[in-house]
Amino acid sequence: MEAMSTPTLTMSRGAFLSNIEQLQGALAPSELMVVMKDDAYGHGVEWMVDAATSDAATPVRFFGGYDVPTSLRIRVRAPQARVFAWATSDDADVTAALEAGIELGVGTADYLRRIIALAEAAGAQASLHLKIDTGLHRNGIRPEDWGEVVAETLAAERAGSVRLVGVWSHLAEASDAEDDEAARLFDEAVAAVRDAGGAPADLHLTASAASWWRPELRRSVSRIGAFSYGVRSADGPELPGLTLISRLQAPVIELHDDHIVIGLGGLHGFPSTLSGAPVGTPGGRRELLSIGAMTSRLHGWPGVAVGDVVTVFGPGSDGEVDATALAERIDTVGEEILTRLTSRVTREITD
Ligand SMILES: *Cc1c(COP(=O)(O)O)cnc(C)c1O
Repeated sequence: MEAMSTPTLTMSRGAFLSNIEQLQGALAPSELMVVMKDDAYGHGVEWMVDAATSDAATPVRFFGGYDVPTSLRIRVRAPQARVFAWATSDDADVTAALEAGIELGVGTADYLRRIIALAEAAGAQASLHLKIDTGLHRNGIRPEDWGEVVAETLAAERAGSVRLVGVWSHLAEASDAEDDEAARLFDEAVAAVRDAGGAPADLHLTASAASWWRPELRRSVSRIGAFSYGVRSADGPELPGLTLISRLQAPVIELHDDHIVIGLGGLHGFPSTLSGAPVGTPGGRRELLSIGAMTSRLHGWPGVAVGDVVTVFGPGSDGEVDATALAERIDTVGEEILTRLTSRVTREITD
């Protein structure tokens, strides 16, 4: 391997494909929707869509892009796959989504009316997934408004401008009891759609943690971001059969009497609040003493040399920890560590 001169995020295509296969097996018959918001959690959309559609034993046929720009990037690489965008989007984005056949998540009556008007104007048919608010109160149609919004959707469906393909919601994942109650509200909302004459085929409620650990809450589709990349939940257990697909490493660039310096710091998106975090080194685990703009300091080990490599997180045997273990130190989630890394960090894809 070439000497490392910049901080490098190494991403394993094989580990990603293996996670996909494990997830497909564990979640079946629920269909895996691979969520790729925030540039596939910082890994890069394009190569991952290629891998998931061309290299996977069972190709992924459903992706979640969150916003329309990300969904369009997925669409370009996967013309045959379904793509779901659930961010409430401006008219230009909705029009682009309709043209590209991207399915839209709808959480307000206003957004529904805008989509219907734009679809009518374009002579297009919008594929919609209506979102019921099951308690998170972020975005979603309140149960008291559900009947009316469903009636409006079904009227537009009869007129040809929309197709109601799905009903969905998002869980708080704060307690099992709350999630159970959310599932009950969800099922009621689905029943109300069917009573009104709708026939949505896709029902989806759960993201990674609930899909994996609470099979009874899975519906026909599971929206999986973090676990596709092997990122476990904060305070959550190890994931049997899934592996973190990425490893962040930085080279030793200076040696001092009482510390060494590695080339990774705050301007690479690595939060300075992580000082004190354990990292893996050829001499075993060390703690980061401080994090500066471009560099971080730690104690050395016998024989340390410039060019040695320190593993900040990732699978390995030098005492390193996973991205979630780092995140837990600053009360955030593992994907946040990945999505904060800037473009100054070199990305390398390995088999
Ligand atoms: C981010 C997101 C997901 C994926 O969540 P993970 O916990 O990363 O699997 C699923 N659904 C929605 C609505 C999201 O915003």
